[in-house]
Parts: sequence; structure tokens; C-alpha cells
Amino acid sequence: MKTKIIIFQSIIIGVLLIFILTNFISFSKKKVITRDEYALGKSILEYTPPHPPKIAISDVSTLVKGLKDNFTPTIDKITDDIFLARGYMLGSIGMVKTSEGLVLIDAGENKEIAKTILYELKKIADMPVKYILLTHGHLDHVLGLPALSGRGIKIIASAETKRVMEKDLKWLKPYHQWARSIQFGDVADEYALKRFIDLPYDPDSDWDVIMPSHTFQDRYSFKLGNKTFELFLGPGETEGQIFIWIPEDKALFCGDQYYESFPNLSSPLLEPRPVDQWIRSLQMMEELEPEYLIPSHTKPVLGRENVDQVLQDRIRGIQFVYDVTIAAINNGLNVEEAIETITLPDEIASIPQFFELYGTLAWSIRGIYQREKGWYDGWGSGLNPLPEKVKSQEIVKMIGGVDKILTRAIELQKMGDHQLACELCDIVIAANPNEKLARIIKSFSLDYMSVTSNGNMMGFYRSAASLERMKAGYKP
Ligand SMILES: [Zn+2]
Repeated sequence: MKTKIIIFQSIIIGVLLIFILTNFISFSKKKVITRDEYALGKSILEYTPPHPPKIAISDVSTLVKGLKDNFTPTIDKITDDIFLARGYMLGSIGMVKTSEGLVLIDAGENKEIAKTILYELKKIADMPVKYILLTHGHLDHVLGLPALSGRGIKIIASAETKRVMEKDLKWLKPYHQWARSIQFGDVADEYALKRFIDLPYDPDSDWDVIMPSHTFQDRYSFKLGNKTFELFLGPGETEGQIFIWIPEDKALFCGDQYYESFPNLSSPLLEPRPVDQWIRSLQMMEELEPEYLIPSHTKPVLGRENVDQVLQDRIRGIQFVYDVTIAAINNGLNVEEAIETITLPDEIASIPQFFELYGTLAWSIRGIYQREKGWYDGWGSGLNPLPEKVKSQEIVKMIGGVDKILTRAIELQKMGDHQLACELCDIVIAANPNEKLARIIKSFSLDYMSVTSNGNMMGFYRSAASLERMKAGYKP
């Protein structure tokens, strides 16, 4: 009995000791950094949100015009046997009519819309579909597959595309669903880009995807009736990108290697792209001397002279961006310095396909840095950096609270310096994620930054604004 009491007492003393010790540790931690020390409750700051930005049509007119020109539902007749259904959704569907059946190129991002397109295409040629060729595995080219495929239909893509589909649409699916909703401003319904600028983007919510039934490495060709299909691996937009050449018609389906906008050489939430190989792929296309260039987004290009011009311009523009960025890397510039100093020469900037409707020069430079040189700058601090909150908490402490930082952020916002205003708010948010006012101030600067003719940028900023408001529990 006595032994039992001693054991019991020892346990009690042990628990008490652990309790005192852990409390002392957390207490001493709290003395250095506490959330309350910087909490909004101690702030005396008052913030009157600015009026929401007035969006003049001139601010976004190029975007709206680009969308109207390229995304009005249309079936283009390219030759007697080749058609392109575009504007029904973001991804177009091509059709080649042969004497023995139909070959489709890409499937778009929505089953229901793909079904409508197939119905329209069958009015032109009521024949069975024999093949579906996938230019690459991005969701706007493959989610429509269930409506188009069926027994005996071969779905062909590169082996690399199949791998990317396994990754993006299956095991990395939660991330990609998040990333795509961020890109298109879909995180909150009232902010969705689709509603704001009538973007024809309508991905299936279930991401129920059919995988390619046949894959190849570098080249693959087959004949169906009176047509030959030559498939070439041509990396660029993705590593597994292919282009499809139909010699009888001198027609080339180029996937996303060309569309009427600055090429998205780097998509901010996706893996870096092989820009050097993108140039090589365009050169391979040009060597075929196509009469028709049929992209999976925006209008087709018709006539040898026009196709030649478009491909040469694309090669010249991307080569310039790649070369100057590589020179910046070799000259020891960090990525922000490179972005600050590199501009497009007028002879490239003035070409309509280099207007930044979709990709941007700055993101391209960032993507080339990311892919070609790794992440370390060589100057020591960047090798094992601390979490952002450590430096931010130190800055807030040094300055004597959040009010001074947010006062300056508000001033900058009033002056229209929204990027710097956001970056100051980020210091406060990193120091204490519960700083609601910092999130609210930032959200209004993001609103202003979202007024742009670049569709991706508009979506990213609108998503960020709505995320910050959600975190702050604030409704404007
Ligand atoms: Zn695409």
C-alpha cells in the first residue's frame, strides 16, 4: 500500500514539474514574440477604404476585344476537310475529316460543351470518330474527353503528356484545383473572372479524366483513309507538347505553342517551361512550311505568307527574351534586377501576338531564372533563410508596432503605389496572420492592381483580394 502511495506521489510531482517547465518555456517565448503584442486591438489606426476602382473600358479594352475576336463560338472551315470549333469554351477542338472517319484534336475543358461541339461537327461530317489526338495534358485540353471518346476510339498523346496528366490531374489534383481557381479568380463567386469579363472558361468540377490509350516518345504517324497524321514531340508550353502535321492539306495543329498573345513562357503556379525547346519546336514547325496554322486557343492563321510571318515573329520574340535573360543570369543580376532592366525592343513589342493578354515578359524572365539557374543567389543569407515571420516580427518590434507600417501603406495606397503598399501589409501579416486591418488594406490595393488587360493577372489579383477579405472576415 505504502509503495503505491509513493509511486502515486512521484507521478503527481513529475506532472507538476513538466507543467511548470513547459509553462516557463512558453512564457519566456511569449516575452519575445506574442501575437497580442501586435494585435489590431492595440492599434489606434483608422482606415477608410478607397472607392473601388472605376474600370474604364479603355483599361481592359484590349482584353475584351481579344476575347470577342477569339472567343465568340465559331466553327472555322480551314480547308474542305479541316475545321476548328473555338470560343465555346477556353480550349478549342479541331476536326479532320478523312474518307474513313474523323480525327479530333484536343477535347476542351468541359464535357457538356464538348458534347455540343461534337453535335455541331457531326452536322458537317456525320462519320464515326476514330482518333482523338491530345496536343498536351493541361485541363483545358483534356477534361472534355469523356464526351468525345468511346469504344474503339484511340486517344493518342506523348508518353510525357500521360505522365503530366497522372501528376496534375491525379496525385497533385488538390493543388492544381486550387491553382486553377486562383488563376481564374474563382475562389469567391463575386470575384470570378468569368462573371467579370465573360471569359468562356468552364472546367468540369469533377476532373473526371480519361487517360490516353496510346503514347509515343518522339514521333508517331498513322494513316486514316485519305489522310496522313504525323505527330512530333515539340516541347514548350509543356514538356510533352506535340504538334500534328497533315501533309495532304499542309495543315499544322500547334496546340499552345502559338496563340494570339504574349506566350505564357512561365505560368506563375505551374512548373517551369522549357523555353529553349519551345524555340526549337517552332523552328521544326516552320521547316514543314505549313499553309495553315491551327492553335488550340484563338483564331487559326491562314496562308503560307501569314503562317511564315507569325512563326518567324514567335521565334524571334521568344529567342530575344531567352537570350537577354540568359545574359542577365551570366552577368550576375538577380531576378528582380533582370526584370527591372529588360524591356522588349519596339520591333517586337509592336507585334500584336506579343501583347501581354495572357503571358508577360516579367513572368517569362522569372520562369527562365527558375528553370535554368536554381534558387540560391550566392550571397549567403538566401541559403538557409528563416521563415518570413521571424524577420517581419523583428521589423514590427523595431518600428514599435504595426501602426507606422500600416499608416505608410495607406499613404502609398492613396498615391497609387499599390505594389509597395501590399508588400508593407505583407510584413504585418507575416508578423501576425491575425492582423485583419493589414489584410483589408491590402485587398483594396489588389482591387486596383486587378484593373489590367492581362487576363491571368486580373484573375490572380482578384483571387488574392477575395482571399485576404475572407481571412479578415470582411465584406466590402
Ligand atoms: Zn491551353
